Amino acid sequence: MLKIAWSESYVLPLPPNHRFPMSKYELLPQQLLHEGTIRPENLFHPAPLEEQWILRTHEEPYWKRLESLTLSPSEVRKTGFPLKREVVTREVTIANGTLLCTHHALEFGIAMNIAGGTHHAFTNKGEGFCLLNDIAIAANYLIDRKLARQILVVDLDVHQGNGTAQIFRQEPRVFTFSMHGANNYPLIKESSDLDIGLPDYTDDHFYLRTLDTNLKNLVDRVQPDFIFYQSGVDILDTDKLGRLSVSREGCRKRDRTVLEVAHKNKIPLVASMGGGYSPDFRDIIEAHANTYRLAQEIFF
Ligand SMILES: [Zn+2]
Repeated sequence: MLKIAWSESYVLPLPPNHRFPMSKYELLPQQLLHEGTIRPENLFHPAPLEEQWILRTHEEPYWKRLESLTLSPSEVRKTGFPLKREVVTREVTIANGTLLCTHHALEFGIAMNIAGGTHHAFTNKGEGFCLLNDIAIAANYLIDRKLARQILVVDLDVHQGNGTAQIFRQEPRVFTFSMHGANNYPLIKESSDLDIGLPDYTDDHFYLRTLDTNLKNLVDRVQPDFIFYQSGVDILDTDKLGRLSVSREGCRKRDRTVLEVAHKNKIPLVASMGGGYSPDFRDIIEAHANTYRLAQEIFF
């Protein structure tokens, strides 16, 4: 059964005209339920994560400032969110969603979070709408619990997974792969284990060929026994931040490539949703919905 993490606390009221597309966290599960891709029993509702797993990945002084709502004004500005209790609770709940997904993925082959992919969170700072790094927290959990030996992070959000790269710089058991817009945020990139920076206006053909070749090589070379997939849809040609020219169909083929590689090789996979900033919400919701539709088609 496809298990999907979702909580009411994922959806927060933000100031009017805030740049962050918060309503997608409400509209996407509604759409998936409405069209019959999922039923209510597919959803599970994570509680906030226990502190020990936050501190396994994030530095204590940073977490304490975050938890006590005492980040400096410049730290707050870099996160892009107002610093409020509900914002922190949201992030801690999302992180637990990804962590709990690992157990469902070990049982069913795949599990997904309707949020997460907060890959701009470093050990000691947050930025770009990311406060805690859900994939890093869940990866460290798998290693500590000896549930995985070699993890592959496949980060296909248009923005580089800079926080994830920094967190695992010295950790050979987690291989970080980021394919992103070379000219996009963050301007100063971290070093992942494999970075592919794509030129502006990259189209479906070049994108999919580059992904296919590299992903298959990586699976052979890294021999992962667990995959985290950051499935941001800001690669779309309609995205206002993306700078790439990938169509909605191209984005769907991208998801199919990743999910089929995991399925064929019997490697459990957890998908975290990632970014998406198309001005028309239907573009965002449809592209994200495709990831969940494909999971049902390929795995169940
Ligand atoms: Zn992004």
